[in-house]
Amino acid sequence: MNLEGKLQSEGLFSNRILALLDVINANGLGLWEISGGIMTLDQKTSEIIGLEGDNLVKLDDIIDLVHEEDRQEFKGVLDTITDVPNKNAVAECRICSKKTNVYSWVRIMGKSYLHQGNMVILGTSQLIEGRALDVFNAMLDNITKELNRKDELNKCIFDITEILLNADETSFDTTFQTCLEIIAHTVGLCRLYIYKNHLVEGTACCTEIHEWVDGVEVTLGEDYTKDIPIHTWPGLEDVLSGGHTYNKLLKDTPLEIQEMTPKGIGAVLFAPIFLRDLLWGFVGYEWAEEKLFSADEAAILCSAGLLLANSLIRNDLNKNLYLAVDKINTTTIKAEVLEKFAYTDTLTGIYNRRHFMELAQNPLDKAKRFGKFCYAMIMDLDFFKKVNDTYGHLAGDEVLKNAANVMKNTLRSYDLLCRYGGEEFVVLVAESTKEASLNLAERIREAIVATPCVYNVLKIPVTMSIGVAESFPDCTIESLIDRADKALYMAKEQGRNRVVFYTGEEK
Ligand code: GH3
Ligand code: MG
Ligand code: MG
Repeated sequence: MNLEGKLQSEGLFSNRILALLDVINANGLGLWEISGGIMTLDQKTSEIIGLEGDNLVKLDDIIDLVHEEDRQEFKGVLDTITDVPNKNAVAECRICSKKTNVYSWVRIMGKSYLHQGNMVILGTSQLIEGRALDVFNAMLDNITKELNRKDELNKCIFDITEILLNADETSFDTTFQTCLEIIAHTVGLCRLYIYKNHLVEGTACCTEIHEWVDGVEVTLGEDYTKDIPIHTWPGLEDVLSGGHTYNKLLKDTPLEIQEMTPKGIGAVLFAPIFLRDLLWGFVGYEWAEEKLFSADEAAILCSAGLLLANSLIRNDLNKNLYLAVDKINTTTIKAEVLEKFAYTDTLTGIYNRRHFMELAQNPLDKAKRFGKFCYAMIMDLDFFKKVNDTYGHLAGDEVLKNAANVMKNTLRSYDLLCRYGGEEFVVLVAESTKEASLNLAERIREAIVATPCVYNVLKIPVTMSIGVAESFPDCTIESLIDRADKALYMAKEQGRNRVVFYTGEEK
């Protein structure tokens, strides 16, 4: 029998009260009633006590289910209520569930009425432990969920930090996009983008420079996200300039922002990016839920924004740095090459005649000042035409290279050597003596003979005639070489493969 039936059969309540009880029970408040030692239990109390089926129980049976230690208190409350009508009483006691045999702490509250001469008690019961534990567990659940979420977001920051640190310039753009994707997936975003601030004709504007989208359709054209005057997004600049995040449900943002946002977005979070004291730009996070980003999420996403922007800035710097280094390298190399071309002979790699003439004047003047002597040697390969004719011009080139090497290796590092013309070489031996320079010339001649050029397995023997001249008062490098050339002529005349010292025009 239900409460309504019982009440009607006993004629205890008017329909008005019945209707009231029905409403109260239907709303889940739980109300029981005692009359004549019979309890009519509501659903909630029935569950606490572990009754199945009938909702009518004897009050004495209930009293038996109350814990021994609490029984007195329980009875006292019942007595209080039933003694005097219209009195409230509250008891907290342990009641055993018939079903599980486990006690639960229950708080019961009752009030007595006199109705048509009968004493009626209306009461309600609430699980104390259950309620507290539920609240506690729910709190614990939330805290754990929040902590897990923070862990996840922080881990995502670690991941992208590692990726961005290891990104090289060539694959940076793809790597960066991957990072956006990782953040978007971890947070559960539909869209993630970075805007960079800049001035357009004196107006502060921002332009979207990176975007990741999934799950929403962005219908605005590319131009729409370019050079947007910041003041056209009301409130945004003020919030961001103050170093705060702009965290709002989309419906609470100004129309201008809503128009810029694709359909299906529930909330937006803009995090400012500062470069030193300047607002460099901001990162935008959007998700579908109509739920604010939590303070923790906002803080972590703010850091993620800084990280992303930082790596963008660093990459730009690196790129520019590399470009600059490249530029420096190419110009330096160019200059170096040009310079080398300017002073060396391309075939042999030794000084060319022009450079030699520039360098030679200095030691010559110095020797004159200190009363010392310089010696010029002009060295000419004998019958070189024949080498070309016999072995070919390329072989002749190799012979020239070989001769230059032999001379270089025989000379001291501070002797100036150059290719003076075709198969002619000149050396300026600074601050020496006749004897020493003649010795040097002789050693060169011998070395040339002893070190034939090897070309395509063939040994090409050559000899060399050398004319040597000593510096004289008022001599120039040209006049000194001219005297050496006269001695060379004599060496050729005398049969070649020899050294001749210049001793005067008449000889
Ligand atoms: P001499 O003993 O009188 O000096 O006889 P020569 O044949 O060496 O002298 P000549 O001046 O008649 O010939 C020099 C030759 O050197 C002519 C030219 O073809 C050759 N020659 C000059 N420059 C180069 C070069 O760079 N490479 C090659 N392979 N030959 C060169
Ligand atoms: Mg010659
Ligand atoms: Mg010659």
